[in-house]
Amino acid sequence: MPTDVAGVADANRRTNWTRINRMRWSQTYIPTLREQQTEAELISHQLLLRGGYIRKLSAGVYLYLPLMQRVIEKFSRIVREEMNAAGSLEITMSVMCPAEIWQQTGRYNTVGKEQMRMKDRHLHEYVLCGTHEETVTTLIRGEVKSYRQLPLNLYQIQVKFRDEIRPRFGLMRGREFIMKDAYTFDADETSFMKTYERMVEAYFNVFRRAGLDVVKVESDTGAMGGKAAHEFMLLVDTTAGEEVILFCSQCDYAANREKAPMKDLLRPSQETTLRPKRVVDTPGAATIEEVTAFLKVDAHKLVKTLLYMADGKPVAALVRGDRDLNEIKLKNALGAIELAMATAEQVQAHTGAPVGFAGPIGLKDVTILVDPLVEGMTNFVVGANQFEKHIVDVSIGRDFKADRMVDLTMARDSDGCPQCGGSLTAKKGIELGNTFMLGTKYSNSLGAKFLDAEGKEHPIIMGSYGIGITRTPQAALEKYFDDKGIVWPKNIAPYLVEIIPLNFDKQSIREVAERIYSELAAAGIDALMDDRDERAGVKFNDADLIGMPIRITIGDKSLKEGKVELKARCESEVQLIPIGEIVGSVRSLEARLP
Ligand code: ATP
Ligand code: MG
Repeated sequence: MPTDVAGVADANRRTNWTRINRMRWSQTYIPTLREQQTEAELISHQLLLRGGYIRKLSAGVYLYLPLMQRVIEKFSRIVREEMNAAGSLEITMSVMCPAEIWQQTGRYNTVGKEQMRMKDRHLHEYVLCGTHEETVTTLIRGEVKSYRQLPLNLYQIQVKFRDEIRPRFGLMRGREFIMKDAYTFDADETSFMKTYERMVEAYFNVFRRAGLDVVKVESDTGAMGGKAAHEFMLLVDTTAGEEVILFCSQCDYAANREKAPMKDLLRPSQETTLRPKRVVDTPGAATIEEVTAFLKVDAHKLVKTLLYMADGKPVAALVRGDRDLNEIKLKNALGAIELAMATAEQVQAHTGAPVGFAGPIGLKDVTILVDPLVEGMTNFVVGANQFEKHIVDVSIGRDFKADRMVDLTMARDSDGCPQCGGSLTAKKGIELGNTFMLGTKYSNSLGAKFLDAEGKEHPIIMGSYGIGITRTPQAALEKYFDDKGIVWPKNIAPYLVEIIPLNFDKQSIREVAERIYSELAAAGIDALMDDRDERAGVKFNDADLIGMPIRITIGDKSLKEGKVELKARCESEVQLIPIGEIVGSVRSLEARLP
């Protein structure tokens, strides 16, 4: 039996690259599964498990099997090429990092429970990095001292650890995952904006090459800090879309709804005569639906009082009854590190009533934040802070005071565009990557300064840029699949071609299979050959499940005419190709595949 070792050595000599570009099924490890996997809610997760790509070790911790390893390698290579082209330099930073530098930036407190922490044998505190701003700034501070050393752009492809509250959806939201993270250092704003634009362009190139059409949207800067940020979203129709994006139908505005400010809404007209407030019984009515049904009023005549604990202090957030609260806006408005909805016990303790009856009137020692949509309302309904009671005909100012008036409403479909006043449309998306304008938050807190041409000292202007190396390929599968399995886009498929000799035992078939297998390898085309002694049906089912973009089938019937079958995974049509023309035919088929 011919060994692959020679082929590999040949390939190495040719490309000076230790990548194996061909493989026999019998010599690799592809444990496919027939049954539906109950742990997987998403089709992409389901397919990675069933296709023998990944296995779960514990919640949010996955093992990448040989096919997944190749997908990761292919996608990483695209990312590397585009990062290198954008002038970014590859480095590797440690996953483990002394807690001290996270304390210096203040993020030791702000990241909260998402960060894994530990002590070494000397009782020194360490963290597992979920991102590397602290590490990279520590690396360059004191070493990059002059404007002549700037700009500088560094990246790595490295394991990250985040103790996510809800690890789910397989590689989409893991606790341990792989990220490409880049960090840029510039002397001034003009230079920084050039760097930022170059990185944005590189991001579009990366996703296009991976067969993914992404949109760039404005996003909240969150715990990262900094001035502005963008996310690169893959729009999906499935439940995999954890993010909601709002697009304007008239201008180019696109933002994560977490970020979108509320444009002045058309407000329902208000009564001008203020009636005195009254406490009314609302037996069995606690939710907005129940109260509006019971009192026979519209939800926009109700004001929701939502009780939160912000860094241990109670806060009441008031939004109009027909709208949802945007917790990110609330957190940002308060500058809170930890924000959580009050528990039933906390609601009872601060309002004197069970959940469902909170209201702003008579609240003591609770900060009251009111959304502008509530501002102009008259004769509205609030909870009475008493079991099964509400207060009607309430007026703000007369009956209670707001400590602050701030935008707290979650923008939604059909709201006004904050940029042009047009109408917004909501779509679901998966965040594949993002870019942050960090400003000088990290260079200031960690002392990364440089001297300009006049010898004056300034903090370095920074940017940070992430791409999910494990999330992106799984996200791709939310687009690239059919009822039989995966349909990989060509540039991130483990192998471009799967060769299926229908009866490998038969010498005539085996000879042709081996010849094609060698010719493809020699031409630099990645191929997997199913050399197993299995029935055709089993081989075809597995091939459809694991999803290589191109299939070559070698069977007696076509071989009689000196031909083999060529088929794209995403098409049903089968072409008969003379054995000697297979390489050229694979190439031209490849050229028109996504
Ligand atoms: P999300 O909002 O989805 O939690 P994030 O804003 O926390 O993402 P970043 O910290 O900017 O994300 O990370 C950069 C990229 O890393 C993300 O765009 C995503 O592709 C990937 N990523 C983030 N968290 C995870 C995770 N838990 N599992 C897999 N990939 C992740
Ligand atoms: Mg996150």
